[in-house]
Amino acid sequence: MFDSLSDRLGAIFEGLRGRGALEEKDVNEALREVRIALLEADVALPVAKEFISKVKERAIGAEVLRSVTPGQQVVKIVHDALVEMLGGADKTDLDFATTPPAVIMMVGLQGAGKTTSTAKIALRLQKREKKKVLMASLDTRRPAAQEQLAILGEQAEVKTLPIIAGQSPRDIAKRALEAGRLGGFDVVMLDTAGRLSIDEQLMAEIADIHTASDPIETLLVVDALTGQDAVSTAEKFKARVPVSGVVMTRIDGDARGGAALSMRAVTGAPIKFVGVGEKIDALDTFEPERMAGRILGMGDIVSLVEKASLEMDEAKAKKAAKKMAKGEFDMDDLADQFRQMRSMGGMGAILGMMPGMGKMKKMVDQAGGLDDKEIVHQEAIISSMTKAERKKPALLNASRKKRIAKGSGTSVQQVNKLIKAHRQMADMMKKLGKGGMKGMAKQLAG
Ligand code: GDP
Repeated sequence: MFDSLSDRLGAIFEGLRGRGALEEKDVNEALREVRIALLEADVALPVAKEFISKVKERAIGAEVLRSVTPGQQVVKIVHDALVEMLGGADKTDLDFATTPPAVIMMVGLQGAGKTTSTAKIALRLQKREKKKVLMASLDTRRPAAQEQLAILGEQAEVKTLPIIAGQSPRDIAKRALEAGRLGGFDVVMLDTAGRLSIDEQLMAEIADIHTASDPIETLLVVDALTGQDAVSTAEKFKARVPVSGVVMTRIDGDARGGAALSMRAVTGAPIKFVGVGEKIDALDTFEPERMAGRILGMGDIVSLVEKASLEMDEAKAKKAAKKMAKGEFDMDDLADQFRQMRSMGGMGAILGMMPGMGKMKKMVDQAGGLDDKEIVHQEAIISSMTKAERKKPALLNASRKKRIAKGSGTSVQQVNKLIKAHRQMADMMKKLGKGGMKGMAKQLAG
């Protein structure tokens, strides 16, 4: 998602950043290109216009242009405006400050991914937030809709309301609430019926169920692939029911990202979740700060750090940080890094998340991907070293290298390559240790 927009903006800003001094006309020129890039990504015209004028207002001040790093400042202004456009200050987590069961009502057109998203959110609440969730399908129109939810419920191990044929949507909603209360559920999710297009009957039914069930959240599910139609659908729904948030599905297939970029600005409804695949756990929260970083090729440092800390226990991380700061980075640490890389989904995944590394990842991908097998070889080389060699790689002379190559089933050349890589990493770690994560971002973003 956002790939081509990200490429375009990257090129525009590289031009800006490369220069020491900037004039108003340089900024204007760059912003004209940004505007075109946004429109090509299918961002709604008024949103693109407003965005550009906001950035222009902030960027064309004497302070920015006369500063030491005008290009960087402009990029920062664009970044902040992007975060705002995506709904930066919104609270996107669900609000459960209510007497249980809290009702979440799912609405949307048929085929948008409503039923799938209902199960995805239920699973997430149950797994991550330890909520006891009950799902109920109120879709009495589409044959087998209720069964579909029951099947998803079985997959996700989330309870669903037993189906009683012939009940009206409103009666099912009432029964679900009652079952939620009696069964001690924290959350009741109501999956309402969809239609192929918005019609009066559908809106009336949804409004009626909304009144009857008083949900804490009314989530509208829209399909990112429908682009600006998703945005206008949201406007229409919002006019009839108090939509509290949007779930945008199929962003895994959405190369342009226009709907995601325009949704908040046009409708005022924050995107709370995004569907990233067909699997039941393919759901992410939508975080404007991260998205903006990704779009601008500044990487996704927050998720990188989070992912890393998930994989590494805290004590270990602290020890590693201390060593780094002192410029101590031995072969054991390198082996640790390799282990981590493998558990985090390989080099490719990490590069994609590092600031400034988007381009490098692309190069690597084009070259057929960074071979994770290579990492296994390198780990084998390290484990063929003696303890002393691992602590002090300077000990590695020709005969030791030969022994290690033999022991690990590799060649002396490969051993040399690893030693060189270690030296480079150690250098980088030393610099990193001084500036912490911010230092790394600065260094890599250049
Ligand atoms: P509903 O009619 O709105 O309830 O739509 P469904 O939940 O039945 O979804 C329709 C189709 O979209 C199903 O085949 C889902 O697997 C698929 N789908 C839903 N969300 C996503 C998503 O985020 N990514 C992808 N690739 N497919 C999705």
